[in-house]
Amino acid sequence: MKNVFPSQHPLVAHKLSILRDKNTDSQKFRELIREISALLTYEATTDLRTKPKTVRTPLDTCECSELRANIGLVPILRAGLGMVEGVWELMPSAEVWHIGLYRDERTLQPVEYYNKLPIEPTVSVCLILDPMLATGGSAVATIDIVKRWGVTNIKFVGIISSPEGIDHLHSLHPEIPIHLASIDERLNDVGYILPGLGDAGDRQFGTG
Ligand code: URA
Repeated sequence: MKNVFPSQHPLVAHKLSILRDKNTDSQKFRELIREISALLTYEATTDLRTKPKTVRTPLDTCECSELRANIGLVPILRAGLGMVEGVWELMPSAEVWHIGLYRDERTLQPVEYYNKLPIEPTVSVCLILDPMLATGGSAVATIDIVKRWGVTNIKFVGIISSPEGIDHLHSLHPEIPIHLASIDERLNDVGYILPGLGDAGDRQFGTG
């Protein structure tokens, strides 16, 4: 599938098996969300551009590279929040911009309730973070907002997706790469991914 990158990494597969387990407690669940997010971000950022930088080592000078782009993280609230810490392990200076959307339980459509993006974009690459790409409605709405902000280099980093979520996102934003740990079987009739892992927000925050 073009522009869809399910991780082939054995560490991701191993951690995902524990994440899915209904007996995994919230503390472990949060830890795994952080770890898997870092591993997926490592895979998602292999094409980031760099610029030359000369560094003085204790012995000599060395021609090195540093990241060229300012990177923004846009976690989709609330389940995306737990992914930020994992990505920050790799990119501690990444900016985090919050866009609040909730999914109307009846229509399954995203409703925006928080958006304080400044007028001018402050980053040139955005990673949209949401562990569950279910219907794709929130991801599409968030990408719409980030594109209107003026950022064109956007990547989606999730953990589990439904085929329906990928189709929806790519029908409207085909150029956006989607990085995942797994593509699952399908959505159930209330918009949950099967076999999935349940409610990623409730399992992180202990509210289930
Ligand atoms: N959100 C979740 O947390 N889980 C799903 O399966 C779908 C959406």
